[in-house]
Amino acid sequence: MVVNETAAVLEKLSAAIGLEYVLTDESDREFYAMDVYNFRHLPVAVVQPGTVQEIQEIARIATESNLALVPRGGGASYTDAYLPNREDSLLIDTGRLKHIVEINAEDMYVTVEPGVTWAELTDALAEQGLRTPFWGPFSGLKATVGGSTSQNSVSLGSGTYGISADSILSFQIVLANGEILRTGSDAIANGQPFFRWYGPDMTGLFTGDAGALGIKAAITLRLIRRPTRTMACSFGFETFDTMAAGMIAAAREGVASNNFGLDPKLQQGQLGSTSTTDAFNAAWAVYKTARNPFDGAVQLGKMAAAGKRFLTGFDFSAHFGVEGCSRAEVAAKLAVVRKAVSEHGIEIANTIPTVLMAMPFIPLYPILGPRGERWVPMHGILSFSRVPKFHAELRDLYKTFADRMRECKVEKAGMFTTISTNGFLYEPVFYWEDDRTVFHKRYLPQDYLDSLPEYMPNPAGRELVSEMKQKIQEIFSSVGAVHLQVGKSYPYMEHRHPEASRILKNVKHSLDPDGLMNPGGLGL
Ligand SMILES: Cc1cc2nc3c(=O)[nH]c(=O)nc-3n(C[C@H](O)[C@H](O)[C@H](O)COP(=O)(O)OP(=O)(O)OC[C@H]3O[C@@H](n4cnc5c(N)ncnc54)[C@H](O)[C@@H]3O)c2cc1C
Repeated sequence: MVVNETAAVLEKLSAAIGLEYVLTDESDREFYAMDVYNFRHLPVAVVQPGTVQEIQEIARIATESNLALVPRGGGASYTDAYLPNREDSLLIDTGRLKHIVEINAEDMYVTVEPGVTWAELTDALAEQGLRTPFWGPFSGLKATVGGSTSQNSVSLGSGTYGISADSILSFQIVLANGEILRTGSDAIANGQPFFRWYGPDMTGLFTGDAGALGIKAAITLRLIRRPTRTMACSFGFETFDTMAAGMIAAAREGVASNNFGLDPKLQQGQLGSTSTTDAFNAAWAVYKTARNPFDGAVQLGKMAAAGKRFLTGFDFSAHFGVEGCSRAEVAAKLAVVRKAVSEHGIEIANTIPTVLMAMPFIPLYPILGPRGERWVPMHGILSFSRVPKFHAELRDLYKTFADRMRECKVEKAGMFTTISTNGFLYEPVFYWEDDRTVFHKRYLPQDYLDSLPEYMPNPAGRELVSEMKQKIQEIFSSVGAVHLQVGKSYPYMEHRHPEASRILKNVKHSLDPDGLMNPGGLGL
């Protein structure tokens, strides 16, 4: 785009949404256009609409000027998802779209603007004794409802309620031409966004679309009564295989709302390095969320007794949380989990899930490793029967890379979770010594950064991580794994049956004929 044209577009955008919300400073454009792992192109500007009408106006101006539109929520994904694929792009930061439009306790739905975070939504609903079934990724202090539903997310509530998409009823989508498309029961005359299903699932089309089909301007989620009771248990295992068997046995029962498994590195590294302040905050959160002072004191007593010994003796551990409305209900659910898992592992102190359930949304500290290393995870969701094969092949792969990993100062870890009664999410994580980026410097508090070692640039380490991610992807693809957070990294279109590819391309063309909506997202 030539200089005069750019100036004219920026002028139109400033007139539409206000000069202070059109960021053209190079450092802002660089920061907003990078994720924790990668950077591609600088956009022409970062625009920060404050209303749905302003999103529509931005879409019209961009389409007229042939500029790509790339939405960005909390910026907490790491698959190039909101990284512009070309320079002629506008990056749309949804950080000002924070309005909770309607909490309808009678009809049991909530409608929010896309920039509302999961923590903000959960707090607002808690005041009325309500919650969404899936209620956020662990990154929910930053991650937004718009971002998570555009790439599919797991974690809080996923054991019983599935992924983010399973809790969505309807969307309002701003299309490339500025029009608004409504889905679900909101798409008919006199409609209300209370139900998802009326013929083919148009809501589902936009869940996990990476923003490549349109921009979510409003999202409606189903409500449930907020569970008033929770309980947790933890198990230690000698091997990955016994841990996976225990987690799968629990998943099949379908009663644990939250669960995750940890490998030795994650147990001893990331969690073992918890600072005194964090330990105090965790203990305080556990106490605050206890049902009464006596219960709180008992929980704290148990945590103090377990101390950092809570994991000793086992390489792998798995943690489960159950929820319900009465003590009898949660006790019965916990008994089911214990029975299923105890055939495979030994019960240990439940410090980790107790803290997690008290502080479900974590600050983004893990974007650097426990010794200040760079960090990037990847993942695949497997059917239960294919988990052992994937794990064995991954272990062999790590063996072949062991010497180079040592030379290049790269380490690996693993985290695991089950989804509903039918999915096992396997998450390999990499750490390597390397210099920090603007992303780390803007997202982490200075005193935290000051407490960690810093490293020289390590291009060889970075290159090795990229090569290993590629090899792991090949193993995932060979066992038919699927992925959340597809962004521009996972090979969504590559191994697709031709009929499915054709239909998707036609849908994209019909919604976005000039290919301006997050080009490259989903591989489209
Ligand atoms: C410490 C940490 C913990 C994490 N824990 C979890 C976890 O427990 N579970 C999990 O699933 N993930 C987790 N993640 C990954 C990530 O935070 C989540 O996937 C989260 O959903 C990203 O939300 P976001 O708002 O940051 O989206 P972004 O990263 O900003 O965007 C994601 C995608 O959505 C698109 N998008 C954003 N807003 C819109 C919109 N309004 N309309 C259309 N498209 C849009 C973007 O273009 C992009 O393609 C974690 C990340 C970190 C750093």
